[in-house]
Amino acid sequence: MTDHSSGPRRAPGELLRRLRLRHATDPVTHVERVPARAGEPVGWPGWAPEELRAAFARRGVTAPWRHQAEAAELAYAGSHVVVATGTASGKSLAYQLPALSTLLADPRATVLYLAPTKALAADQLRAVAGLELDGVRPATYDGDTPRAEREWIRRHSRFVLTNPDMLHHGILPGHAHWSGFLRRLAYVVVDECHTYRGVFGSHVAHVLRRLRRQCARFGRTPVFLLASATSGDPATAAGRLTGLPVTAVTEDTSPRGGVTFALWEPPLLPPTDSSVDADLVQVRRSALRETADLLADSVVEGVRTLAFVRSRRGAEVVAANARRSLDEAVPGLGERVAAYRAGYLREERRELERALLHGDLLGLASTNALELGVDLVGLDAVLICGWPGTRASLWQQAGRAGRSGDEALAVLVARDDPLDTYLVHHPEALFGRPVEATVLDPANPYVLAPQLACAAHESPLTPADLDLFGEGAKEAVDSLVEAGALRQRPTGWYWRHRERPEVDLRGEGGAPVCVVEESTGRLLGTVDGGSAHFLLHTGAVYLHQGVSYVVDSLDLADGCALVHAEEPDWSTHARDVTSLSVVSVRSYVDAGPVGLFLGEVDVTSQVVSYQRRRIATGEVIDTRPLDLPARELRTVAVWFTLSPGSLIAAGVEAADVPGALHAAEHAAIGLLPLMATCDRWDIGGLSTALHPDTEAPTVFVYDGHPGGAGFAERAYGTAVAWLRATRDAIVECGCETGCPSCVQSPKCGNGNNPLAKPEAVKVLDVVLANLAKVGGADPGGPGEDRGPAVGLEAGGPGAEAARGEALPRQGDRLTRPAQATGSPPA
Ligand SMILES: [Zn+2]
Ligand SMILES: [Zn+2]
Repeated sequence: MTDHSSGPRRAPGELLRRLRLRHATDPVTHVERVPARAGEPVGWPGWAPEELRAAFARRGVTAPWRHQAEAAELAYAGSHVVVATGTASGKSLAYQLPALSTLLADPRATVLYLAPTKALAADQLRAVAGLELDGVRPATYDGDTPRAEREWIRRHSRFVLTNPDMLHHGILPGHAHWSGFLRRLAYVVVDECHTYRGVFGSHVAHVLRRLRRQCARFGRTPVFLLASATSGDPATAAGRLTGLPVTAVTEDTSPRGGVTFALWEPPLLPPTDSSVDADLVQVRRSALRETADLLADSVVEGVRTLAFVRSRRGAEVVAANARRSLDEAVPGLGERVAAYRAGYLREERRELERALLHGDLLGLASTNALELGVDLVGLDAVLICGWPGTRASLWQQAGRAGRSGDEALAVLVARDDPLDTYLVHHPEALFGRPVEATVLDPANPYVLAPQLACAAHESPLTPADLDLFGEGAKEAVDSLVEAGALRQRPTGWYWRHRERPEVDLRGEGGAPVCVVEESTGRLLGTVDGGSAHFLLHTGAVYLHQGVSYVVDSLDLADGCALVHAEEPDWSTHARDVTSLSVVSVRSYVDAGPVGLFLGEVDVTSQVVSYQRRRIATGEVIDTRPLDLPARELRTVAVWFTLSPGSLIAAGVEAADVPGALHAAEHAAIGLLPLMATCDRWDIGGLSTALHPDTEAPTVFVYDGHPGGAGFAERAYGTAVAWLRATRDAIVECGCETGCPSCVQSPKCGNGNNPLAKPEAVKVLDVVLANLAKVGGADPGGPGEDRGPAVGLEAGGPGAEAARGEALPRQGDRLTRPAQATGSPPA
């Protein structure tokens, strides 16, 4: 790698010391020296052919690490395996070793490799092709593969690299053309399998079952070899994804470089300096401002620094603020800082990366590590503005820093958010053993029915197939028959139409909305459909490359927002209202005065207005109504109820009950990502002192996706650990009456009113005490005595980046009476 550095290099400890010195009170809550680790090499397995060992040796691999050999042995012996270890721990070798050994030993065998992105598949193709093994003929097969080459690949390639979308749209519907390949399929490699989470993951789970079904028609049962980022319980997640029993290999024995990792909590503001925004009281300096200052300070030191910011808007703000303060210090220095995010066009992004690598830029603010080119590594420092959602994202971002042999600096700057606050005060949750699990729900009827339609189109469904597709399959098939999509015959269920069913694995966010400058017709970027209501409503202020635009109109039907350049001195904040009714109860825990439930609910939410706030002071200028359609959602929720008597006994006055529940709801939503790889915007909540369906004080937390995505289910399954972390986060926040770091929510539909912080703790204590009496509700979840921790995961293409700060599906207190359609537990 070329050394592009300009300016002096500083040891990470020294740079950190200088950054800390700029504050009156030390913002650093913890410094973790992640030490360099020597690797544990072992011998090659006896079955690995000499030709393959020689090929790996040419690449510089003289022996596998122990975890690679363990996974390879298991797979070679026919077990389905998931390797769940850290970034850059050599997971590729763990599947290449058994897969390529088999291809060399059996000249007919084939391997199918699945990556979540085309870029990763291309990367892996280079690696496998580079081994120059005779007769393997690796090839990528995706939407970009020229028609002319497709037939050659189907007939001759024995190592086909593709993605789940291509498997779903191309290979499985065309299985007749692939029969030669499928009847010889030995291994299915599922790389970065933690990215298959939520609704997308649930779809992929069924695509894999469809693949298994087509192989089974030829009597073939391929071995599944999965690679995952570190996470809680990877064997269960991989088992859900494939529908097979999977053994996990989780101990990382590869070597790594050292990182100095600092956890940074922005200081409390002096009271007079607080924002005057009545409903969202800022008590800490914002993470964006803090990150902008750290970025500027690092640039002044000549340190090439990458700042990761979760939201589109945030990256722009960080870059703009850093530029401004640098220009004040040294006119012209601000030009060496830029912003970068997913919505930019590809050429813009590659140009910015080149500039940072060559030192023309010293600071870059970006939204997501996955969007960055693979070459952008070896930076001196990485700033992470706000918890990036998962440990995998955290380490992927931190991993951009450090050249081989050099120590690197990484700083996690806490946002005003209950989870961030919890994490900077519980470093064991970041650096200890992960419990955060990759969650998906293949039983989601909104996923299962269309997937069964696809399967039936590929070949008629038989009663035996219903077992393969699992829980809910019979009901889904019945509903498809009723809807006229399938016809039942003595031999099975047949697809009735000529055309294939149209099912998009990633379509649930809605089509992206284009942002177009009206006067020039220029396309500025895109915003995903779900976020458009919040970010691109008429009157919204929208930032692009530091330039501010105001939205003139949003046309949801055309998927287009027209904007003009304008820099008003206010920002805009959309508000929504939500109502909820209980449809059915799936499972519940009767804990005396406390009830804990998992069930189906109907949620109606609508973006109804937006506030304009002065940028400088946060002062609310006005609230303006919006006329956007309501969005209806049937989904899965977890909820708890308390008897009014238990609240009185705990010292919660009747007048404080709504505020206590509301505060607990906000914090609980904020902490759920600790237990499951979800984004806080993947979930919503609603609390009320009396819900017509439960007839009790109730807090609901629901999946923000039709049919549920497994998040509420995970919350139910880990309720004790989840609610205990929620309680701790509230108790440990230094504020008096509640702030965005504990019980306030940035997207509260009720303006963060009412909120009762001390009473929220009492509510959670009542819930926890009563759940403890009945043994909790943690089937298979982490024990409550174990410190909760967070797993490693990477967000996935389009998952984190597309969501950004936007899908605020979080509703709030009941704003309309709900329909009492619930069926109470028997
Ligand atoms: Zn607080
Ligand atoms: Zn709220």
